[in-house]
Amino acid sequence: MRAEVLARRLKGLLARIDAACAAAGRDPGDVRLLPVTKYFPASDIAELHRLGRRDFGENRPQEADAKAAELGELRPLRWHLIGRLQRNKARQVARWAYAVHSVDSERLATALESAVAAALDAGERESPLEVLIQVSLDADPGRGGVRPDGLPALADRIAKSAELRLAGMMAIPPLAADPDAEFARLAGLHTRLCAEHPAATELSAGMSNDLERAIAHGSTCVRVGTALMGERPITSA
Ligand SMILES: *Cc1c(COP(=O)(O)O)cnc(C)c1O
Repeated sequence: MRAEVLARRLKGLLARIDAACAAAGRDPGDVRLLPVTKYFPASDIAELHRLGRRDFGENRPQEADAKAAELGELRPLRWHLIGRLQRNKARQVARWAYAVHSVDSERLATALESAVAAALDAGERESPLEVLIQVSLDADPGRGGVRPDGLPALADRIAKSAELRLAGMMAIPPLAADPDAEFARLAGLHTRLCAEHPAATELSAGMSNDLERAIAHGSTCVRVGTALMGERPITSA
């Protein structure tokens, strides 16, 4: 049964996170699991909600929009958009997103700011949007992310917005790279960000295959799809 599979995998995953925290000498309360439910049906999210999960990550605005509509009655529930976002989808996303982990330009931040203002005015949301800046650790524009040298200006732009709350940063390590070196570099960038913006404490890093190493380097949020949900029906970013 799907419900049993999810319950068993969730238990294993939480144990894995606890073990990684113990190995890193960190408090397990400082690392959150963000189940990534892209390509899986709303019924799986409802099941994970029964199992006590409240935060869910989706990477495609269209798909998340449909699921948010389908699961509108399920509360409390916080949607995190973790994939690339085009400015013309900002208004839609502002209706249901608690957080966006993939903000990588001032133009996108500005679009989200107006979209959140409109959603607040329309009574579609009650609080500012939590924003994580996605940082690019390689120079591959296809994967998104701001280059490290653009990080301070983007952080300042977001921090001065009333509709956006700068919560931290996110990265996806380059496929071919040594994840330890990349996560260490990311941790250095995060330390510098926090020196300027002490509330930007979230570090969204680590997925099914590298969450232990991300936790060793200070991740506060591991985004896990495959290890919880199983193989995705179609491959994705
Ligand atoms: C799909 C996805 C994940 C989850 O990846 P898994 O390897 O399946 O755990 C994490 N982060 C982002 C941005 C994703 O798109």
